[in-house]
Amino acid sequence: MGEFDLIARYFTRPARPDGAVALGVGDDCALLAPAPGMQLAVSSDMLVEGRHFFAGTDPERLGHKALAVNLSDLAACGARPLAFTLALALPQVDAAWLEGFSRGLLQLADTHGCELVGGDTTQGPLNICITIFGEVPTGQALLRSGARPSDDIYVSGTLGDARLALEALQDQAAAAALPAETLAAARLRLEAPTPRVALGLALRGVASAALDVSDGLLGDLGHILRASGVGACVDTSITINLIAASALPESTGCHFDLNFLHQCTLAGGDDYELLFTAPAAARAAVAAASQASSTPVTRIGRIEAEPGVRLIDGQGQAVVHRYASFDHFA
Ligand code: ADP
Ligand code: MG
Repeated sequence: MGEFDLIARYFTRPARPDGAVALGVGDDCALLAPAPGMQLAVSSDMLVEGRHFFAGTDPERLGHKALAVNLSDLAACGARPLAFTLALALPQVDAAWLEGFSRGLLQLADTHGCELVGGDTTQGPLNICITIFGEVPTGQALLRSGARPSDDIYVSGTLGDARLALEALQDQAAAAALPAETLAAARLRLEAPTPRVALGLALRGVASAALDVSDGLLGDLGHILRASGVGACVDTSITINLIAASALPESTGCHFDLNFLHQCTLAGGDDYELLFTAPAAARAAVAAASQASSTPVTRIGRIEAEPGVRLIDGQGQAVVHRYASFDHFA
């Protein structure tokens, strides 16, 4: 199968009459027509085999994840997805792989009404790069720079599951101590994350700052703090909200214990949850956004004027050295 047959077969679909996409796959450029009064929100994310995913990863999940991580960036800005392009390097033409990959990719695209409008296809080591386009009313995008002292800090969903799965895949002997259902659920979070698009849209005009957690809670919180020129106090006791938390004993006799889960939660990465701030006066509005988007959110701390992150436990006591082993994740 040649390059053009491949594009036609797996990555071209009948044009949909949609106001935002004026021209899709097949010409030199796609044409997008954002509605008047809207800003175009644009983001790219690349997935490299061996770096971002294991060789042999299920292609359908990979297709889903490649788009999910890009949708997550739009969500973090409060932008509505419109369209995306796909730049793909493939070692060889593998029909079964392409079939699964395009299915996972296009299913998620359809869920969000986000159309594949173009791309590039070349031979080379497996590499998937998506550029996504969304729209947001002018001036209403959620930025990293809007957090103010005394704002609440929230995170959506659960954190740490993807990291747990990654560690388990790398140390399968130790991971045998974990319940199989827990592992399967965590692995789904690693391989097929859920972008929080509806929550991002509902947080427009409510959140003061937002981003999506891709590198770990504390590291990504640092981006908001630096951009906003503030600091934060985070309650580490309420950030253990993994799928796995309830299933794990205090000590498992291997490194998959509660302390390890703490680390996954605070510094795990690959979660694709939204981390956002909002004034305390907006608590009811945050609850309404959570409900409207059917996305759970947890209040985990407060923005403070003094720079840096201070961790406390459930009793309000400072937690200073307990997470010194974060370097483990560096
Ligand atoms: P160019 O003339 O720019 O080299 P190509 O031959 O690379 O165009 O691609 C032909 C058409 O197919 C273009 O519209 C391009 O956007 C689209 N395309 C190429 N690769 C992909 C892909 N992986 N997914 C979707 N569309 C693609
Ligand atoms: Mg080209």
